[in-house]
Amino acid sequence: MVNRKARDVQKMKVYEFEEELAELYDIHDEQLTLFQCQELVTRICSEHAVHPPEVMDGRGRKNACADTLWIRLPKQFRNLIGVIHETCHVVCNSIDGADSLPDHSPLFVRYFIEIFLTRFPKSSRDSVENYATICNVEVAPVDRFKALPPECCKKLLQLFIEVDWRNKDQAQLEAQLEASREELEAAEENVDSLVSSAREKFLQ
Ligand SMILES: [Zn+2]
Repeated sequence: MVNRKARDVQKMKVYEFEEELAELYDIHDEQLTLFQCQELVTRICSEHAVHPPEVMDGRGRKNACADTLWIRLPKQFRNLIGVIHETCHVVCNSIDGADSLPDHSPLFVRYFIEIFLTRFPKSSRDSVENYATICNVEVAPVDRFKALPPECCKKLLQLFIEVDWRNKDQAQLEAQLEASREELEAAEENVDSLVSSAREKFLQ
């Protein structure tokens, strides 16, 4: 496949910005276990109807990396910022039209900021946005960020946890999704598109 992604011009600036946040909020001191990393990945993915990848050790690697199936996390990335960063790649890659965007696009940073703010209550929007400006990082407008309504997230999270998604048993996943349609409908009026897009993502 031809790679049509635009050049990743702000990658280093995004790393610097995250580094500043980590220092500001002492995040490096809060190392997570792989299990906690997996839990965080799964929760974030459920908020975006994205199939959660499996968190892997990443031992011997210099950098973390993410795709639809795995997130590899060497020890130094097992903290809130490292996990949110890698999960944002997975979430952003699932957005329509994102194939052509660079990996650390303004939209990526917007997702990173919004997810960070909800996971880290000690942070304030003003200072996080301010640090992005200081680091010269371009951020997409806040209305570009989309997440599922809380009730849908809860249901999807339950599905992700109940079904062993690593087995990728398509029939079982589909049956579970269909079975939860009523509850999803109770939570969100126009649920058809949600169910079909979640199904597409589960079954790809
Ligand atoms: Zn990255």
